[in-house]
Amino acid sequence: MDPHDEPGAPGPRPVNPLEQALHAARALVLADLAAREVAEADVVSLVEESVTHRRWWVEQWPDGAGFLPGLVAQDVQDALLERYGRWPLCPVCGTGDPHALDVEPELGPDPHWVCHKAGVRVAAVGALDGATPS
Ligand SMILES: [Zn+2]
Repeated sequence: MDPHDEPGAPGPRPVNPLEQALHAARALVLADLAAREVAEADVVSLVEESVTHRRWWVEQWPDGAGFLPGLVAQDVQDALLERYGRWPLCPVCGTGDPHALDVEPELGPDPHWVCHKAGVRVAAVGALDGATPS
């Protein structure tokens, strides 16, 4: 962002806090998809579908803007489960059945990927790339 921009000055892109929140949520989920090497074109379109849906949602409830990363992550997770399978696979548990991480809180700020089997927080949504596979 250009620090010389005056607040309220007309620009090519009007700054809408909800659009910023949606953009941030989209970027975080795309980063997690890329971290697990599933950021293919059709997967990106799943993210876009979620963002479109959540744009409507957050317009009804602007106070929920901080919940968008967790919600978009869960939307994409659900869509992937139908089309591709579990995502993101747990990098913590080395044994047993492969299982997906869950977003916690489901509806709240500062969402994290957690493994309920091991009972650990693996990474913040958007930070899966830094999570070390065991
Ligand atoms: Zn696990």
